[in-house]
Amino acid sequence: MTTKTRKTLPPKFGPYGGQFVPETLMPALRELEDAYIYYKDDPEFREEFEHLMHTYVGRPTPLTYASRMTEHLGGPKIYLKREDLAHTGAHKINNALGQALLAKRMGKTRIIAETGAGQHGVATATACALLGLECIVYMGTVDMARQKPNVFRMKLCGTEVRGVDSGSQTLKDAINEAIRDWVTNVDTTHYLLGSALGPHPYPTMVRDFQSVIGKETRAQIMKAEGRLPDTIVACLGGGSNAIGIFHDFIPDEDVELIGVEAGGHQISGGEHAARFADAEVGRPGVLHGCFTYVMQDGDGQIALTHSISAGLDYAAVGPEHTWLRDEERAYYTYATDEEALEGLQMLSQLEGIIPALESSHAVAEVLKRAKTMSKDQILVINVSGRGDKDLDTVIGALEGA
Ligand SMILES: *Cc1c(COP(=O)(O)O)cnc(C)c1O
Repeated sequence: MTTKTRKTLPPKFGPYGGQFVPETLMPALRELEDAYIYYKDDPEFREEFEHLMHTYVGRPTPLTYASRMTEHLGGPKIYLKREDLAHTGAHKINNALGQALLAKRMGKTRIIAETGAGQHGVATATACALLGLECIVYMGTVDMARQKPNVFRMKLCGTEVRGVDSGSQTLKDAINEAIRDWVTNVDTTHYLLGSALGPHPYPTMVRDFQSVIGKETRAQIMKAEGRLPDTIVACLGGGSNAIGIFHDFIPDEDVELIGVEAGGHQISGGEHAARFADAEVGRPGVLHGCFTYVMQDGDGQIALTHSISAGLDYAAVGPEHTWLRDEERAYYTYATDEEALEGLQMLSQLEGIIPALESSHAVAEVLKRAKTMSKDQILVINVSGRGDKDLDTVIGALEGA
C-alpha cells in the first residue's frame, strides 16, 4: 500500500489522544490501524465476532427494570444494563475477544497484556484459550499477591503470568514490561490493551468493540419504554464501559451522559483517582502513549492513585472522555469509597444484584441524582461487572476483617 492510498482513522478527539510512543512501535500501530480498518467492515470478521458474542459471551445482556430501587428512591424509572452477566462477569470480554480475533486475522500467534487487579488479564486469557492463542500477561508481584484467584484463573486458561518486581511492582511497572516485550517481538505479537486508552488506534478500536453495550441498550429501552432514556450513568476507570454505553447516544443530545470517577477517601488530600474532579492533580499530560487528563504532581510525575475498586484505580482517563467533557457533551462526577460501598449494598438488598465495586460508583451517583429527577424520567445504570471478585474487600470494609 502506498502512503497516498492508505486509509486512516482520526487519531485524536479534539486535542486529545495521539501516538506518543517510541519510534520502534510506530510500524506496529500502523499495521494495527490498517488491519482494524480492513476487518471492522469485513462481513466474515463481523459475523464471527457477532456469533461468538452471542454464543460464547452471552450477548445481548439483559436490560433489567429495577422496580424496587425505583420505588425506594422515588425518582426516575431505573434500568440496569447487565454487563455483570457477560461471560467472566464484566464488559471486558467484549474488547478482549474483539482484539484477539483481530490479532488472529493479522497472523499474530502471541498475545501479551498487562493487568493490575487481574480482570483484564482474565478476559484476555479467556479469549486466548477460546481462540488457541499463546498468551502472556505481565503483572506486578504486589498485585499478584493481592489477586491470587485471578492469577490462578489465568493459569487455568493456559496463560503464562509473568511477575514484574521492578518499581512499585504494580500496574505501571507491568505496563512498562509489556511495552518492552512488544518492542522486541512486534512481528509475532499483538498487545491487547484493556481500556479505551493508550496510543491511537486503541481508544477508537476499544470503544468500537464496547459500543455494543449502547447499541443493545438503545434497542432494549425502545422496546421497553418506546423512547430513549433521559440519563445514562457509568463508572469511569480508563473509560471503556462508559464510552461503550455512551457512544451510540452521543448524537442524541437530549440523553444526558454521566461518568463517575473514583473519589477514594475524599478529593482533598489526593487519595483518589478522580482525574477530572481534582484540578490540583488532574491536568492534561501524556501517559502510556496518549495525551489526556492525567493525575500528576507539580513536576509532571505520575501521582499515586487510590480507590477501593482496583478497576478504577488508574492515573489517566481515555482521551474521548476528556474531549466529551471539554465539549460539555458528557458530565463527570465522582463517588467516594464509602458511597460506593453504600451503592453496592443498596443494589444487593433491593434487587438481589451484587455489583462490582467499580459499578457501585455509578449506583452511588444514582442514589444522589434520583432525588433531583421526576417519576416520568428514565435512567439507565451500566452495571459493568459483578461483585463476586470484590467480596474479600467488601467483607474487610463492612466487618473490619
Ligand atoms: C475494569 C473494570 C472497570 C473499569 O474499566 P473501564 O475501562 O473504565 O470500563 C469497570 N468495571 C468493571 C467491572 C471492571 O472490571
